[in-house]
Amino acid sequence: MEISAKIYVAGHRGMVGSALLRRLQAGGYTNIITRTSDELDLRNQAAVADFFAAERPEYVFLTAARVGGINANNTYPAEFLYDNLLIESNVIHQSYLHGVQKLLFLGSSCIYPKLAPQPIREEYLLTGLLEPTNEPYAVAKIAGIKLCQAYRKQYGCSFIAAMPTNLYGPNDNYHLQNSHVLPALLRKFHTAVEQEASTVEVWGTGTPRREFLHVDDLADACLHLMLHYNGSDAINIGTGEDISIGDLARLIQRITGFRGKVRFNALMPDGTPRKLLDVSRLNALGWRASIPLQEGIKSVYALTEWAEQLVNA
Ligand code: GDP
Repeated sequence: MEISAKIYVAGHRGMVGSALLRRLQAGGYTNIITRTSDELDLRNQAAVADFFAAERPEYVFLTAARVGGINANNTYPAEFLYDNLLIESNVIHQSYLHGVQKLLFLGSSCIYPKLAPQPIREEYLLTGLLEPTNEPYAVAKIAGIKLCQAYRKQYGCSFIAAMPTNLYGPNDNYHLQNSHVLPALLRKFHTAVEQEASTVEVWGTGTPRREFLHVDDLADACLHLMLHYNGSDAINIGTGEDISIGDLARLIQRITGFRGKVRFNALMPDGTPRKLLDVSRLNALGWRASIPLQEGIKSVYALTEWAEQLVNA
């Protein structure tokens, strides 16, 4: 991918797309094109076709998606399935029609079977039942990976796919009901400190284990794969380390300086008991995560935009 290559980052306003944009700009890439969802609705087949015909991007990072935490997935299953199927079908098909040289599609670690052996290897995909709380999203993301593989097999397209673990970082979603656990807990503990509350509620039992990757690390890994990988298998992107939700809550409690009690609400769902990716293939391709969890959370907490993001959540 030459420095002047025309690169389309789909979803550049999201947490992943904006991190990728920062990474590409830092890497000196000069010819990056973007569209907001108001300018281009990726669910609209004709609009996406017109966009590709007019712009003819050479490289595509497909980071656009409808995303959300456990509760959002549970509440909006129709949108999570329909929107994601349309977005990926339109972008991947038009990339094929317009001769895109390489495309990277982002799946998600929740596409693996609920009870997959841990750490999760790439080949466990489609070997068991999915976690019901995010099955529609997972089915859409699996379809995206299969689209990349199908266009590669049938038409020789260099379309690759990656499966990131749980992400956090700048431009995260802090909605109390719909966000993922890490931003939700940052917000809850931060607010509790500000309001001098005596308890913070953490959903579930605190025993599920999750792996968290800073989105700047993810962006770096995506660029690495775009430059150095061209295979049909989707590649896991993670740190290789996980933490229980209880320990995550205590870590965020320390970072925010909350002195009260943590209460676990077991009436809320735990979701998958453990979700840790095996990242040996990514490591073998020459990439490793570099931002430790505590440092990453501290840097997000220190962001000046943070309070603003809360207001807008
Ligand atoms: P998941 O990784 O797809 O299950 O999605 P989440 O990031 O939403 O949730 C991960 C785990 O954190 C689940 O066990 C949740 O029950 C737990 N959790 C604890 N407190 C919260 C919270 O305030 N918000 C969210 N989203 N999850 C929470």
